[in-house]
Amino acid sequence: MALEFPFDPLKRSEEVENQVTRDNQRLYYRFRPAPYYGGIATADAVGCSFLCAYCWNYNRNLHPERFQQFYSPQQVSAKLLHIAKRKSFRLFRISGAEPILGEKTFAHLIEVLRLINQSKLGSLFILETNGFYLGYRTDILEKLKEFSNLGVRVCLKGVDEESFEKTTGAKKDFYRFPLIALREFERLGMRAWPALMGDLFPRDEISKFERFLRKNGIQSELELEYLEAYPFVLANMKKRNIE
Ligand code: SF4
Repeated sequence: MALEFPFDPLKRSEEVENQVTRDNQRLYYRFRPAPYYGGIATADAVGCSFLCAYCWNYNRNLHPERFQQFYSPQQVSAKLLHIAKRKSFRLFRISGAEPILGEKTFAHLIEVLRLINQSKLGSLFILETNGFYLGYRTDILEKLKEFSNLGVRVCLKGVDEESFEKTTGAKKDFYRFPLIALREFERLGMRAWPALMGDLFPRDEISKFERFLRKNGIQSELELEYLEAYPFVLANMKKRNIE
């Protein structure tokens, strides 16, 4: 897919969703036990509405069409539960991509959540999302409320419109959507919190951003994440003039 920067992430979400879904199945390329959060069963997918300069899965998300293996929610949950039982994990996630690109991927996710929930492992599913589609379609957030075992980590990509566009490659006009999603999660009383790549911003800018979030109705504490500085990540950041 030819991609001009900055792009419309809504259009991209739609195009990518069509590439990575077939009926209620989605493209995944790996299932693994991961060390994060003290141990988490992880399903690695492809396909994102953004194309972040620091994405550790950049090339797969640039070319999701290169992958062929579609999995149903039943297959995904069975693989995750198998890993969790083998490793005595209680945490689950989808990583490497955006879990929610549109209605089809959302329906797939809901089914995965339902099956994991039914397993009664006393589990927590950490939904790692860029928050874009959820902010655009706040009417669907209620559907996530039925899952008491859900925590939503909304990874914010910039502290303002300019840093958002530079990092994601998406037009700055769409900056507000992940913030809208976070505000709505709080209004619904759901467990959700913002995260930000701490390495990209000076401490005073992060403090200013924390104040901005609170002023805009987002009270949950900001989690700082740190860069996985693979050579291709540093090269991509250089291309986008990110220090
Ligand atoms: S939002 Fe996440 S998965 Fe998507 S491109 Fe950015 S870092 Fe990668």
